[in-house]
Amino acid sequence: MPSNDLLNRFIFDDCDIRGELVTLNKSYQEILEHNIYPPAIQMLLGEFLAAVGLLSSTLKFDGMIILQARGDGVISTIMAECNHHNNIRGIVRLNDEAELTETLAQNGSMLDLLGKGVLFITIEPKRTENFAGKLERYQGIVPLEQETLAGCLEDYFQQSEQLATRLWFAADGEHASGLLIQALPHQLKKNAEENEQHWETIEALADTITPEELVALEHEQILYRLFNEHPVRIFEPRPVSFACSCSRKRSESALIALGKDEVEQLLLEKGSIDIDCQFCNQHYHFTPEEVRILLGGNVLH
Ligand SMILES: [Zn+2]
Repeated sequence: MPSNDLLNRFIFDDCDIRGELVTLNKSYQEILEHNIYPPAIQMLLGEFLAAVGLLSSTLKFDGMIILQARGDGVISTIMAECNHHNNIRGIVRLNDEAELTETLAQNGSMLDLLGKGVLFITIEPKRTENFAGKLERYQGIVPLEQETLAGCLEDYFQQSEQLATRLWFAADGEHASGLLIQALPHQLKKNAEENEQHWETIEALADTITPEELVALEHEQILYRLFNEHPVRIFEPRPVSFACSCSRKRSESALIALGKDEVEQLLLEKGSIDIDCQFCNQHYHFTPEEVRILLGGNVLH
């Protein structure tokens, strides 16, 4: 059985390259249970979830990393996020006007499903009352010009960090896995040519991973299978789990943000207000009395 719901960091002892491996199983299953998606979209969401798992290793403070793609294809939005506790969640929104053909539903690639669009990589520091605004929110944007998510993220790393980075993803509706390798700023090897050679060797070895191996093998087995001639150090795994960040308090804030007029209109139409979280299907119900208290007692006398 593969290392389920775990994120593993590894480094090479003989060259300046780091890596991450992630395999999601239960967390991925729980996310798929909340919404029904065709197979190709399940796979793509699996890749997005594995990707935020891998990218969460770059978080340097408490907060969240959000990966979101928007396009004009059958998928209008796909997003996955992971916080510093390695809680992940994700969702896909479909474009009602685009036709989801059987071929797309079964085998559509990221580009087939999203069409023309962009990928947003957002790093959102955790907002606390004392530290609000101290850390900047960062957003990187890359056009969807590559066939795969891995290709787009490689473009992103090239632009934003100028560190050579390669990624591989695989998902089968049950497991979603990802592998990342990244060249680090030179420490062990000062010779640029030697560094380049090391990178090429490790990259070529990593590139022999098959999607079947990536989802089915234990992380240690993957590292042995790929790099058994190189000294690799693997660190303690970090558990990844599905958890939704929605709450009644957040729903209250959303109602307040909506404004008194809108909320009054909703109450007039429906008698009460119901908010459903699309990530986890949690239901939040507000009676007119609760809404009145929430908005300061100034509505619906
Ligand atoms: Zn939720």
